[in-house]
Amino acid sequence: MNPRLLLQVAALLTPVLLASGGAHAADKLKVVASFSILADMVHQVGGDRVEIATLVGPNADAHVYQPTPADARTVAGAKVLIVNGLGFEGWMARLQKSSGFKGRAIVATKGIKSLQMEDEHGGKGHGHAETDPHAWQSLANAKIYVGNVRDGLIAADPAGRSAYEANAAKYLSRIDQLDAEAKAKIAALPPDRRRVITSHEAFGYFAATYKLEFIAPEGVSTESEASAKDVAKIIRQIKAQKIPAVFMENIADRKLLDQIVRETGAKIGGTLYSDALSDQAGPAPTYLDMFRHNIQTLTAALSS
Ligand code: ZN
Repeated sequence: MNPRLLLQVAALLTPVLLASGGAHAADKLKVVASFSILADMVHQVGGDRVEIATLVGPNADAHVYQPTPADARTVAGAKVLIVNGLGFEGWMARLQKSSGFKGRAIVATKGIKSLQMEDEHGGKGHGHAETDPHAWQSLANAKIYVGNVRDGLIAADPAGRSAYEANAAKYLSRIDQLDAEAKAKIAALPPDRRRVITSHEAFGYFAATYKLEFIAPEGVSTESEASAKDVAKIIRQIKAQKIPAVFMENIADRKLLDQIVRETGAKIGGTLYSDALSDQAGPAPTYLDMFRHNIQTLTAALSS
């Protein structure tokens, strides 16, 4: 490249660098979040003091994720690594070790009272209890996530304490507000319209909080497929109990639910966001949008 062209290129690039935050970008706290829901919570609490990389992005399934060499480099370069825990990211321990990560690891579910799910699935039939990792599907738990994220960010970046505390306080009050809305909406559903079918058992915490019953052909992880026996059992149950609606999930294949709909005549109630956010253009680009969308989708399908 000749020197004049080089100057022109430099002149073109300079405003871009300034616009992206200039010198401040380098000072940001580098945080890696394991999946999209957690990344949004970190964004809400960290604000512009943090730079967040997300390993499992929107509409992707963290249960079956396979880390890449690029992920190992991302983790290695971070000061803070935030994970859900409760066995959700089965691949994380190995990734963390192989990356040589030396920063601060935060488990967002620390202090949460976890639910056990009886594993009737997976084909092995040993019926052992499994810890349900989907704790974010309760807004009361989300407040514990936010507290852990806030405290972890403060520990890694003490100079940001007042910003993290203020952001977290604001976010926590929005969570409380949505929780009150959710409880009011679901309380209005008739008792015989509170059973729904989803793809995998991602709504245990939601069910316990809002008194709905979720029935799923797949277990707490999407790793093992539902057996023909599981599916037949659910089809009998839908018919016998007149379960009104079947809900798709953004991370799951809809083939199985289509079969259930064909054989039972249950209606499709819409798509629930279980383990991942939508992209920016979708209905669930943030955790609170996701939760509001799920409440609206459920109550709309079950009240009519
Ligand atoms: Zn799941």
